[in-house]
Amino acid sequence: MSGALASGCAAPVGIERPVLRERGQREVFCGLTGIVWLHRKIQDAFFLVIGSRTCAHLLQSAAGVMIFAEPRFGTAIIEERDLAGLADANAELDRMVAQLLARRPEIRMLFLVGSCPSEVIKLDLARAAQRLDTAHGGQTRVLAWSGSGIETTFTEGEDACLASLVPGLPETDESRLLVVGSLPDIVEDQFARIFAALGITADFLPARRAGAMPAIGASTRYLLAQPFLGATAQAIEARGGRRIDAIFPFGAEGTTEWLHEAARAFGVDELHFRTTIAPLRERAKRALAPLRDRLAGKRISFLPDSQLEIPLARFLSTELGMVPVEVGTPYLHRGHMARELARLPADVRLSEGQDVDRQLDRVRADRPDLTVCGLGLANPLEAEGLATKWAIELVFSPIHGFDQAADLADLFARPLRRRDVLRLEGA
Ligand code: SF4
Repeated sequence: MSGALASGCAAPVGIERPVLRERGQREVFCGLTGIVWLHRKIQDAFFLVIGSRTCAHLLQSAAGVMIFAEPRFGTAIIEERDLAGLADANAELDRMVAQLLARRPEIRMLFLVGSCPSEVIKLDLARAAQRLDTAHGGQTRVLAWSGSGIETTFTEGEDACLASLVPGLPETDESRLLVVGSLPDIVEDQFARIFAALGITADFLPARRAGAMPAIGASTRYLLAQPFLGATAQAIEARGGRRIDAIFPFGAEGTTEWLHEAARAFGVDELHFRTTIAPLRERAKRALAPLRDRLAGKRISFLPDSQLEIPLARFLSTELGMVPVEVGTPYLHRGHMARELARLPADVRLSEGQDVDRQLDRVRADRPDLTVCGLGLANPLEAEGLATKWAIELVFSPIHGFDQAADLADLFARPLRRRDVLRLEGA
């Protein structure tokens, strides 16, 4: 997972935005982590990781141990004899899947999830999924994607999962809106109500049940709810869907613009849009006002983690007056991010990929008021007197939309408050 190729070379975004390209040591979760929120979202799916004990531990500690419910994820452990090529891994897998589906007949969608060990032994999970889908397809769809740390970082697991769903979605000629990206149910319900009030028929990918996945086709217009879905977007476009270009729905203005682009694409009357959205927007702005007082002028750096960094930096900068110093992202999709980048201050330093030592050196030199970073980096930075925010909380909290705007801002205000309290106590 490491390597020190071409570290720190600059490449332009548009004409005037240089980007530091980092290709060094990484400190992020692998794509298996996405299972933690995906298994809650698709309620009759099961995620079977073909991996090692390390993969099983990662999932259990990230998702917590479920005592009262049977979990809808598990790990088929690849043992040493599998790695040595002594066992027929495909036969083992078929046996395990048959056992699982016999014991859990309520499972309607089974994801075989690849990991570093399954890649090392070159287990072809796409082919295994086809074979198992034929065997169990009447009852349970079987699909495959990779969450391995060799291929994916953190949120790219969701991208790989949703991309695996797209080829099997039903076909439609209807002109409908497809909102793409896993959202907490409460947030999805809020957006569904707003789209309905605007007169737009909206579907969501992923749906909450395997049998309710949306249909797509050449008349589908899709709107990304998450900024890390490059492969899924490509798969939808291969089915004829067209993207609605918009910034992401973070904050009062971000959510307004996101909805506005959808409304324009579906020919919603402008006056109707304004009268529907204005009260929601105003309420969100009122909720944000005290947080703006708290956060304005504070300098913030993002270490690369989830690909949420650029839209969040835009929200913090344009709606709360924070000053982004460095915004790092594991992968920069220039097309999907173009509108976001255009709204960032001209002097913000952008970096793509990771070289953790160099990035930490820059944080130490910049000494921002707040650094957003992974769990493993937070403690050392705190020990050096730098306030931190765990990036993972931003992925696990409901942060999209009007009603969550103030909660999102508060996630950044809280560590600064805590620092003030500690300073007062230490004085
Ligand atoms: Fe570790 Fe790879 Fe398993 Fe992720 S997939 S937990 S990086 S071994």
